[in-house]
Amino acid sequence: MRSWPYALARMNDEDGQSRMKLRIDTSICNACGLCREVCPEGAVRPTLLEPRHFYEIQPEKCTGCGECLPYCPAPGALVEYVAA
Ligand code: SF4
Ligand code: SF4
Repeated sequence: MRSWPYALARMNDEDGQSRMKLRIDTSICNACGLCREVCPEGAVRPTLLEPRHFYEIQPEKCTGCGECLPYCPAPGALVEYVAA
């Protein structure tokens, strides 16, 4: 279930484009790749951060749909923010 601040941020869109986006906190992410599998926009891509492979969300592709949130097994790894 999406949080109230999440819904509020989406309501604040001015141009029909969501400014709500997600990023990955690599200090929490366990690199399972589930967010990449479920993202309908193909916004998640692997990035190499030694010594492990992690993933990153491309801001220009992320629509802030939140589809990835319920699949992430690492609480806090997917961080919501509002793009400037
Ligand atoms: S919020 Fe939506 S578009 Fe952005 S990474 Fe998650 S599933 Fe993909
Ligand atoms: S679903 Fe969560 S733990 Fe898995 S790669 Fe994505 S952000 Fe990391």
